[in-house]
Amino acid sequence: MIVEQHVPLAPLTTLGVGGPARYFVEAHSESDVREAVQFAQTRDLALFVLGGGSNLLVSDAGFSGLVLKVSLCGTNRTANGNDVTFQVAAGDNWDTFVAHTVEEGCAGLECLSGIPGSVGGTPVQNVGAYGQEVSETIREVEALDRQSLQKMTFTNSECGFAYRASIFNTIERDRYIILRVSFALRRGGKPTIRYADLQKMFADATGSPTLLQVRNAVREIRRNKAMLIVPGDDDARSAGSFFKNPVIPQRQFEDLDIKLRSRDLILPSFPASDGFRKLPAAWLVEHAGFAKGYSRGAAAISRRHALAIVNRGGATAAEIIALKNEIQSRVLSEFGIQLQTEPVFLGF
Ligand code: NAP
Repeated sequence: MIVEQHVPLAPLTTLGVGGPARYFVEAHSESDVREAVQFAQTRDLALFVLGGGSNLLVSDAGFSGLVLKVSLCGTNRTANGNDVTFQVAAGDNWDTFVAHTVEEGCAGLECLSGIPGSVGGTPVQNVGAYGQEVSETIREVEALDRQSLQKMTFTNSECGFAYRASIFNTIERDRYIILRVSFALRRGGKPTIRYADLQKMFADATGSPTLLQVRNAVREIRRNKAMLIVPGDDDARSAGSFFKNPVIPQRQFEDLDIKLRSRDLILPSFPASDGFRKLPAAWLVEHAGFAKGYSRGAAAISRRHALAIVNRGGATAAEIIALKNEIQSRVLSEFGIQLQTEPVFLGF
């Protein structure tokens, strides 16, 4: 294990903002991970686990503890008839893995194409998009317990998956380091085409689209929203969606809906769990008066998606936070809804 010092973190994040890590380890094996945890424990350092850096805002001062980048790589594949299980190391690139499953004709992850980051990050917030969530296909998660240094295996139900949540970002936050994830996919399965954006892409198609066509369509939709990392696209220098789509009680939704109708506004919404409605945060942001492209210094709202805060070049974390605060307070005063942030904040 090699321990580096004062390592700039901005280049390791998609937003490209923030200061250095006091200590930094890139782990290529399980024993590196264990040693890094012990290094932090013996020196009483805070430990932060970094994956693809695609959902992360680092403070301008950086982080005074140890950043552990999990770079374990490799995929094992086993098949039982058309049921195919892929066991994937946490450091593998997510979209490369999805491409591989699509090439093999395995359904279940095609709508999750084009999402930046690494495999190990996906169970943590139960990544989902366009009608699929990883919780639908994850069979097991292998992780190192930071307290006991033991390796644990969690079944799907033990992961406690919910909307954008699991035990790993709620009740057991910061306890486990994900090493490997197993996905159970179906060879020959049909692609999922549930969301309007995707249905539109295939409205004129004859016959049912292939997994590859759906993957390409999802990437195209994401590219148009600057939610695909494309070098040189400064609307894509973001941490993805900066705010979660709020899920509010049905009663609160009805009251708000009546209020907005009196202003000739129709509030879009989608069913959520019993007694709740899900609202598109992007609509709230735009209707609170923020046009796409609105900027504050070098921090801006993406010109192509109202939910992404982008770094137009040389933005500081302080500028990003000031813009975030401005958006939250205006959405709160307009709609009575406190937008929750989605990225992880480090060193604040
Ligand atoms: P979008 O497609 O404009 O959708 C906005 C919201 O409407 C989302 O909450 C989405 O629900 C909901 N929605 C749209 N069509 C729906 C349908 N047919 N049934 C139920 N709910 C529907 O959102 P976007 O911001 O451009 O993002 C595109 C996709 O990527 C969405 O699925 C979004 O949730 C996902 N995303 C996921 C993450 C993450 O996992 N952390 C981060 C950013 C974006 P869902 O959220 O349930 O899809």
